[in-house]
Amino acid sequence: AAKAGGKRQWRGYEPAMDAGRDTRHQIAVELRAALQQDAIDVCFQPIVDARSEHIVAAEALARWTSPTRGMVDPALFISVAEEAGLISELTRQVMRKAARAAAKWDISIAVNLSAAEAWDARFADSLLAILADSGLPANRLELEITEGFLLRDADNAREILSELRALGVKVALDDFGTGFASLTYLRKLPLDRLKLTREFLGEIVGEDNSRSLAAAIVQLGDSLGLPVTAEGVETAEQAALLRDAGCTRLQGWYYGKPVAAAHLTRRLKQNVAPAV
Ligand code: C2E
Ligand code: MG
Ligand code: MG
Ligand code: MG
Repeated sequence: AAKAGGKRQWRGYEPAMDAGRDTRHQIAVELRAALQQDAIDVCFQPIVDARSEHIVAAEALARWTSPTRGMVDPALFISVAEEAGLISELTRQVMRKAARAAAKWDISIAVNLSAAEAWDARFADSLLAILADSGLPANRLELEITEGFLLRDADNAREILSELRALGVKVALDDFGTGFASLTYLRKLPLDRLKLTREFLGEIVGEDNSRSLAAAIVQLGDSLGLPVTAEGVETAEQAALLRDAGCTRLQGWYYGKPVAAAHLTRRLKQNVAPAV
């Protein structure tokens, strides 16, 4: 077993749905303390333009090192935060740190929202306060929502998204390709972009028809007027396939893992394609 305390260490992966009730409760207690101490870290994963391979955006991803558990899987602590009523505060802290970092860069910054979040009437207020405090222009902030958000209340989702976009921020549908994706419904939503789920990549590579399948998804985006970002790009082959299929942005380990803000700052100084 890993030593308790000390520095950052991996104690193995705790799949979100496997942690028992007691564990989840303990995690909620520790997470609440971490939020009070502003101890949630944010790291940034580059997103590149598919053609130039220059970094045009970054996704902010929450990271948490618990004093007793080491690094905790984001899927686990995010789901605990949702359940324990801590997600609004977590998002606020992530958004604030992300906006402050991004204000010094000349790229867009993407922040993930949980399904319930944008429905909170106070969300727009805290968003505006964070933009004002950081000096980040609204059009450089992209909110990533999931199908869970849309499913919550289909009739009002459209209105909420319109209000957010009226503030000038962009909205992307994350993990596209995993869920319900009713096309008639998607067509009515005010979105700016689709992010193709990385599970999809696992499926397509190696299959004969993978190229046409990827192209079909991009065409679907086209017909909705939405550019498509591919995430989870791990190899040059995948990058080439997705670029040829028409994805306009690529994100994944091939272009860079999530890193601390200072690290991305250094990389942005020589904003070029990764050496291969
Ligand atoms: P997501 O928004 O779809 O983020 C992409 C996830 O894919 C990240 O996992 C990222 O580290 C991982 N990833 C990126 N490139 C690759 C790749 O090439 N290969 C593989 N295997 N994985 C890659 P992470 O950081 O563990 O986050 C998991 C999920 O947790 C995120 O999925 C997002 O739904 C959620 N999450 C993370 N931070 C936040 C946050 O601040 N707020 C909310 N509400 N959710 C968050
Ligand atoms: Mg995301
Ligand atoms: Mg995603
Ligand atoms: Mg996700």
